[in-house]
Amino acid sequence: MQTTTRLSDKTQYHIALEEKFGAHNYHPVPVILSRGEGVFVWDVDNKRYYDFLSGYSSLNHGHCHPKIVSGFLEQAQRLTLTSRAFYNDLLGEYEKLITEFFGYDKVLPMNTGVEAVETAIKLCRKWAYEIKGIPPDKAKVIVCEGNFHGRTITVISFSNDPGAKNNFGPYTPGFEMIPYNDIKALEKVITTENIAGFLVEPIQGEAGVVVPDEDYLSKAKQLCEQNNVLFIADEIQTGLARTGKMLACDHENVKPDILILGKALSGGMMPVSAVLANDDIMMTLHPGEHGSTYGGNPLACKTAMIALQVLKDEKLAENADTLGELFRDEIKKLNSKHIEIVRGKGLLNAIVIAHPVKDAAWELCLQLKQNGLLAKPAHDNRIRLAPPLIINKDQILECVDIIGNSLSCLD
Ligand code: PLP
Repeated sequence: MQTTTRLSDKTQYHIALEEKFGAHNYHPVPVILSRGEGVFVWDVDNKRYYDFLSGYSSLNHGHCHPKIVSGFLEQAQRLTLTSRAFYNDLLGEYEKLITEFFGYDKVLPMNTGVEAVETAIKLCRKWAYEIKGIPPDKAKVIVCEGNFHGRTITVISFSNDPGAKNNFGPYTPGFEMIPYNDIKALEKVITTENIAGFLVEPIQGEAGVVVPDEDYLSKAKQLCEQNNVLFIADEIQTGLARTGKMLACDHENVKPDILILGKALSGGMMPVSAVLANDDIMMTLHPGEHGSTYGGNPLACKTAMIALQVLKDEKLAENADTLGELFRDEIKKLNSKHIEIVRGKGLLNAIVIAHPVKDAAWELCLQLKQNGLLAKPAHDNRIRLAPPLIINKDQILECVDIIGNSLSCLD
């Protein structure tokens, strides 16, 4: 098993630049992308690839969606940033649209995903002290093993991934970790003192697309309700049609008390995130207590409004649902000895490589690249496969062929 490909001079040039001048906090697949359209990206040598990472599920609408690009450009020439020191003529319109879209009283706009997670935790703690009546500084949020919610100090404080966490301490206290997809464990901890919230990914994306039991979320929500604990859903990766419904929680008809969105909210144009909740929670925040210079900027508002509309108009959840099922069925039909399992929902899927030798997932990704499909290993022997949701049936079938042919590199 050895996938050796000669990298072009241009590719080597750009890699060398990044190596020399950039922090080494990523280990990218060696391909230099310079253009994207729909489900495809092109490298500096004009080779075309299917994008099966979609910017970690930020590009649900595909690359450079014409409607989103056009609204973005128009707004970029009109007004981009006011800060929240002043009102702007798009924030209210956006707030109305997104709250009605998801059925909440209020939204708090932020930028990156992890900022929105931090915002949700702050909001949960505020509610816990001021409404629930937890004694000062005692509030705890339950989180799950294998979680990924971003990279800030507080958020890595409740990670159990040594790579994300080690040597970044001291850590933020106030979190209780339980196994994922374990209702009994939740039941036990949720009744202990001073629990304010339960923060959960409806499907664990970064952990390698770990799908919990069919009724996990609804049972967890029920436990939260019984114990006056906020159910906080991090739908940054799973939301916005990715799993075949507008939200992954919709599969179980669960409505989170706090909903966190990011990534595809801007259709891949810029960092736009949001925290949604009803008034009893959101109105615990007052002027000066939380904010962000870029949060709710007019360019973000305009872009997100169009991105949400496109999800609906182009029925991307329905497409993800149908083609996701086809994709998993076709992968199973490959009957490859190298695939232990294919799993996922909608177009958020992963294959787990059977009996992996060292670096098998990486080698397979290099071979996929060679054959015109880009993906990145998630954890260990898992490869996440998450194309833009605008992909069509023929393209899915072609991609299954590419994956089937590439697997022979593991022989
Ligand atoms: N939460 C989840 C579930 C994610 O998948 C991610 C990113 O992958 C984040 C939070 C962090 O988002 P960002 O990288 O925009 O801070």
